[in-house]
Amino acid sequence: MIDNIKNTSLYKNLKLDGKFHAYLFYSSDKVKNNEIALTFAKSIVCEQKNACDNCHNCKQFNSLSHPDVMIVDQDSIKVDDVKLIIEKLSTKPIQASKKVFVILNAENINETAQNKLLKSLEEPSESAIFILSATQTNKLLPTVLSRLNKTYVGNLSADDEKMICQSLLEAGTDISKFIGKGFTLTEMLNFATDSAYKESLEEIKNLFSSLNTTADIPIAVSNLNVANKQLFFTNLMDILLSILKQNNKFDSSVTTPISGKFSKKAISKCLPLVEDAYKKLMSNVNFYYILDNLLFNMLKERFLCK
Ligand SMILES: [Zn+2]
Repeated sequence: MIDNIKNTSLYKNLKLDGKFHAYLFYSSDKVKNNEIALTFAKSIVCEQKNACDNCHNCKQFNSLSHPDVMIVDQDSIKVDDVKLIIEKLSTKPIQASKKVFVILNAENINETAQNKLLKSLEEPSESAIFILSATQTNKLLPTVLSRLNKTYVGNLSADDEKMICQSLLEAGTDISKFIGKGFTLTEMLNFATDSAYKESLEEIKNLFSSLNTTADIPIAVSNLNVANKQLFFTNLMDILLSILKQNNKFDSSVTTPISGKFSKKAISKCLPLVEDAYKKLMSNVNFYYILDNLLFNMLKERFLCK
């Protein structure tokens, strides 16, 4: 627990924004995210509006017995959990002026449940406030993310950084691969621990290994089963950038299938195409349709830049 969170400018600047009924606090620091989310939630029901810890509402909040507060903190949040929230949404607050729903570690909400939650975020009840925390925002649907007032909770303390580097070392991760390569700590942690990240790099590697001419596109695309579509494009962008900057951020097995086929000039032309593809994905255009077009245009650039 961070006992001085109320002294931070981050907390002091927090206030309810009439435009938003839902808030997200995120960073790679889970404890800090949750602490700020809970303190903000408490300040909303507090009689002094500052999470005073002394008033009746704060005391009930602290003992998890406030009738207008619901805190979800589970390893897996399914559609039934969201249904329960929606059920509670339909009643008026009993004691405070608002009902407050806190979902800690919101990356644990599965996709079906996120879609269910989305409806409540799109048509918010006047008297309800949602507060979410997350370490991996890429696991939240873009449609959900767009409804949230997002606050980046900030960088880790030097001690936390040391602790993470230590645990990466203990897990046998070669951290020299990361140092000075422009990775953020979140990315380092993802790389070491998140199989989705590794899987995504593998998908990109396989796709470009099997791609030589535009005639290969249909088969290459149909062989793909992309788990995290958002991650696919952000990683592809990152790989292209890394090839251009020659920063060796990625293993050569990941970059070679692209750098071996595309000149640097072609890659610099392809980068905005991938950015554009990512934007299309965010506006809910079909992923495979976008990818098909993207690959066609990338191969066209390769030809033009020969
Ligand atoms: Zn209080």
